[in-house]
Amino acid sequence: MSSRTEPSFRESVDLMFNRAVKLMDLPPGLEEKIRVCNATYTVRFGVRLRGSMHTFVGYRSVHSEHMEPVKGGIRYATGVNQDEVEALAALMTYKCALVEAPFGGSKGGLCIDPREYEEHELELITRRFAYELAKRDLINPSQNVPAPDMGTGEREMAWIADQYARMNTTDINAKACVTGKPLNAGGIAGRVEATGRGVQYALREFFRYEEDKAAAGLTGKLDGKRVIVQGLGNVGYHAAKFLSEEDGSLITGIIERDGGLFSADGLDVEAVRNWIVKHGGVSGYPDAQYMEDGSVLLEEECDILIPAALEGVINLSNAERVKAPLIIEAANGPVTAGADEILRDKGCVIIPDMYANAGGVTVSYFEWVKNLSHIRFGRMQRRQEEARHQLVIDELQRLDDVLGNTWSMSPDFKDKYLKGAGELELVRSGLDDTMRAAYQSMREVWHSRDDVTDLRTAAYLVSIDKVAKSYHAKGL
Ligand code: NAD
Repeated sequence: MSSRTEPSFRESVDLMFNRAVKLMDLPPGLEEKIRVCNATYTVRFGVRLRGSMHTFVGYRSVHSEHMEPVKGGIRYATGVNQDEVEALAALMTYKCALVEAPFGGSKGGLCIDPREYEEHELELITRRFAYELAKRDLINPSQNVPAPDMGTGEREMAWIADQYARMNTTDINAKACVTGKPLNAGGIAGRVEATGRGVQYALREFFRYEEDKAAAGLTGKLDGKRVIVQGLGNVGYHAAKFLSEEDGSLITGIIERDGGLFSADGLDVEAVRNWIVKHGGVSGYPDAQYMEDGSVLLEEECDILIPAALEGVINLSNAERVKAPLIIEAANGPVTAGADEILRDKGCVIIPDMYANAGGVTVSYFEWVKNLSHIRFGRMQRRQEEARHQLVIDELQRLDDVLGNTWSMSPDFKDKYLKGAGELELVRSGLDDTMRAAYQSMREVWHSRDDVTDLRTAAYLVSIDKVAKSYHAKGL
């Protein structure tokens, strides 16, 4: 165990920011302006439940308004506090800049364990929280647009959207006040899977570069790579599912609240998820080795470690023992500043949170644009695209007839080629493009500067530069 003290989550983010900003030449004072959190609003409100009044504490933090609206999820967890929402809001600023989503950074949270409440109680609490935020424009399509985070999902976002619409009956853009809504309440195809899908696209992009793989001591493809995932919630489940089903990776370990599962041959992600839904945890799952202290799996041999639960899980107390050569931060802040240094010294490559989990905000951006344009993506072009493709198929068939049926098309070529892109295909394509472009911008800095030795510093350099340019363009 190290004698160094662990900084708080927000201090960790600031330390990483400071490390990067030292390598930049920003005008005097701008560094401080970008780093600080503009405002944090604390709300204490009462809801009558089970015959008595219950008081809840929530936060909405706005880190930077260099672009508006500001954007960031709302978290429901007992550990939510001001330090945490401010750290998460800061990460949102850098994340949005890195993936070119035109938003400032924000984040919200409510100190609550959602598992302790009935659905109708959660609805009352969520609506009241939304009311408190909306009346102060901390939920607003043009100023502040929340999204799901830990402990919240489509259901809560639908309640928030409805609450805002009730309070703003003539706002034609009311649906754009929050993203991550269900499809039938103004959501977009592919938002639920987006963050996990983004993790998959990020890894695919990383594996396209021999030089980057070599930095982690890895070779080959994602196929057969051993992956350990912490947190089989929205992000972890989708990342693990797509990597195992589509890329051939082996999910050898899954860590949840109540313990960990290990199988050298690979776990069936869908079966584990179903087990958790039915039994409330991983304990008792039959086809794997179970350990009560799941966190030991963070230190197990693997090729890729995906922390996808909460912050600070890789810290000064265990970093030295982490063996994964590649860590992709699907959660926000899973590696503390101190652990980051230890891992870097060991040669571990870390794909940083502000990039790795940006799939969520990227597709939220698409949803917000969809809500403002009041039309589903693909609705105007899809059939026209199919009709044009049909022309090519007809022409190929005519040529085949003329040439006396001497060749034929591959069996499923016609079906694949004819199918015009619907909303889901377009969303995935936009997400893939975003993840690739953002990775390329980071790796260019990583490989072109001698003073940049890791992807996190590169990510900060790219994003701080973009935020600084926005300030400059505003005349600040
Ligand atoms: P979630 O609530 O859907 O899932 C979290 C999972 O982690 C749950 O299965 C929970 O049981 C598990 N968990 C909680 N404490 C744990 C512990 N101590 N050990 C092991 N597992 C534990 O949350 P989510 O939306 O998947 O978010 C996970 C992380 O990803 C958070 O850091 C969040 O900020 C980040 N993130 C989420 C999104 C999104 O779109 N949902 C976007 C960007 C980043």
